[in-house]
Amino acid sequence: MDISVVARQYQHSILDLFSGGPVAIFVWSAQQGWPVEFVSDNIRELLGYDATELIREKLRYTSLIHPDDLPQIEAEVAHYLSIKSSCFEQIYRLKCHSGCYCWVRDFTMPEWDEQGQLLRILGYIFYQNETQQVSETLQLAELVREYAREAIMITNPEGVIISVNPAFTKVTGYDSNEVVGGRPSLLSSGHHDAAFYDAMWHSLNTQGSWEGEIFDRRKNGEVYPKWLSIHTAYTCQGEVFRRIAIFSDITQQKQSEELIWRQANFDSLTNLPNRQLLTLRLEQEINRLSRTSQGLALIFMDLDGFKEINDTLGHKLGDDLLILVGDRLEAQVRSTDMVARFSGDQFALLLTGLTDQVSVEQLVMKVRSAFEQPFELGDEIIFTSVSFGVTFCPEDGRDPWELLKNADQAMFSAKVTGRGRYQFFTETMQLTAQRRMQLAKDLRHALSAKQLFLEYQPIVNLADEQLSKVEALIRWQHPELGLVSPAEFIPVAEETGLISEIGDWVFREAVSQSEAWQSLLQRPFQISINTSPVQYRDDTHRVSGWIDYLRERCLSCKTISLEITEGMLMENSADIENCLLLIRDAGMEVALDDFGTGYSSLSYLKRMDIDFLKIDRSFVMNLQADSDDLALCEAMIVMAHRLGIQVVAEGIETQEQKALLKSAQCDFGQGYFFSRPLSADHLEALFLSNKDTNH
Ligand code: C2E
Ligand code: MG
Ligand code: MG
Repeated sequence: MDISVVARQYQHSILDLFSGGPVAIFVWSAQQGWPVEFVSDNIRELLGYDATELIREKLRYTSLIHPDDLPQIEAEVAHYLSIKSSCFEQIYRLKCHSGCYCWVRDFTMPEWDEQGQLLRILGYIFYQNETQQVSETLQLAELVREYAREAIMITNPEGVIISVNPAFTKVTGYDSNEVVGGRPSLLSSGHHDAAFYDAMWHSLNTQGSWEGEIFDRRKNGEVYPKWLSIHTAYTCQGEVFRRIAIFSDITQQKQSEELIWRQANFDSLTNLPNRQLLTLRLEQEINRLSRTSQGLALIFMDLDGFKEINDTLGHKLGDDLLILVGDRLEAQVRSTDMVARFSGDQFALLLTGLTDQVSVEQLVMKVRSAFEQPFELGDEIIFTSVSFGVTFCPEDGRDPWELLKNADQAMFSAKVTGRGRYQFFTETMQLTAQRRMQLAKDLRHALSAKQLFLEYQPIVNLADEQLSKVEALIRWQHPELGLVSPAEFIPVAEETGLISEIGDWVFREAVSQSEAWQSLLQRPFQISINTSPVQYRDDTHRVSGWIDYLRERCLSCKTISLEITEGMLMENSADIENCLLLIRDAGMEVALDDFGTGYSSLSYLKRMDIDFLKIDRSFVMNLQADSDDLALCEAMIVMAHRLGIQVVAEGIETQEQKALLKSAQCDFGQGYFFSRPLSADHLEALFLSNKDTNH
């Protein structure tokens, strides 16, 4: 018999049968969305809906089916109806009045009229927990719980542990029987404050879940980090049913993270924070500054003469020294300040919470005097000093990169002024640095663009005031900046390495000029050229090239004399020593330029074969009878003569200076008093007009 006929005939008795049971009976009309035409009263207990309301509002049944399940359910129904099936079964999720979904098993029986038209649909809905699916799901859940690598702990709404899995025992050390019936607080390490747990509970109560890193304690007392996620299962009425905590021990992961972090952020030699960590901390401190009225200072420090220490004592001792320097720096600052190794022999100090700049200066002094004590490395006693560059935030900038650049520029300018100096960053410094960068960029094309040329300054024999030779001085006619002084661009050329190329050009240019003047004057004519230590650093190849160049042209090596600086003699490198030997063997003359401004070491003068010594302009400038400078000049002249070296005084501007130097037995003079540096054409005109010089 057709069950729909029975349903109609015995409707009340059937309904009585179902009421209070786990099965609800539905009648849907055969319209789109299957509006509910009838539903048994027990739907209230089962799904929370009021039956009469559902019927009155003719609620579309499709709106209660889970959107993920609906397309399949609709397709199946369409299929069963098309084949005029009298009964079919479906499983899907249905929305309860509380808003949550529960699984239902639905037996559906369409009702047809005599013409085969669909009249309505009758259905019985069973709850999922009454179905096979539930037990299958439970079995599956049990398998997952048992074999999961993550620890699982389930609590009831009262927060009592009702189940844990084997992985839980593995991680915590507690057996199931030791924790079931107890509370999760058993696991806590005491590492987190009340606010931490308040936030966790707030998230659980409002969103039903929480996830994060937490430190807990194992049964053996060991504290360990774990990644914990907690989820909540609700009843159909929307009440908390279970809380499921899933966690894993992340000790190892954290250890390897820590190792990677250390490698990335700390210097392996000194164990100090490296450039990366310094920059990061700087960024954090700058952000913090915007909330306080305090400032910070960034100090760059560079060891003076570290290269020499490394070259003479070896890299191992150099490394050991850097470690000791790091320790000594750390001993001078507060624990809240950061000492970092920026690169090579450059260290940085980040001072935070500053209210005045005076204290920074005091600290710099303190560090400086800490370096007055020598460093003991085995048998070696090493003296070294530090140059400092200081910049302030917010005064000098608020960007970490800008501050790093400032401190570097300030340190650079401190270094230029001598050893153990400090320098605060200024606006002018920034402009200078920008100009240096422009010069470095433009200098690359200066040679090929023929912007470089030489001028020549006469060097006069003081005995008869006759022109003896000239010094070639390089000039750069910059297309936008005009004439740029060599005092400004030569250091840039040295830094960029362009000096080698430029130096070779100066050499060849001077040789050609000397050759031209020799044929004009009908006698050898020496040109003195300035050279930089960098030109001798790589190998002896360059110097032998010069000598070959002269020989190929059948010119005497005396055609050119080389001016070198005291700094070069101090470099103490085998390359430089070999170069000087080559020069001496070829018979080329060497002048020591700017004497008195550097180390002025007599022992070097004695060891190296120097022909001329050029007294620096700074001694000549204020030369007066009975002055200290005169005494110094006299001493230098006497000393040089004893060593068989002739003396040139630079920068003679007045008659008086000339006279004093002449009476001090100085051999040669150079300066505006005799002539400013002149172009080749001007000098040539001078030769031709002044016959006296032509012998
Ligand atoms: P320097 O070798 O000591 O050259 C002497 C400098 O003093 C020149 O400056 C010259 O113009 C200047 N001078 C000479 N007499 C007087 C004087 O009576 N009063 C004053 N106030 N100054 C005087 P300049 O040409 O600006 O050269 C500066 C420095 O640049 C040179 O000092 C030298 O160290 C370097 N330089 C010049 N040309 C070259 C070059 O071709 N190669 C290298 N490596 N350095 C060079
Ligand atoms: Mg010179
Ligand atoms: Mg000089």
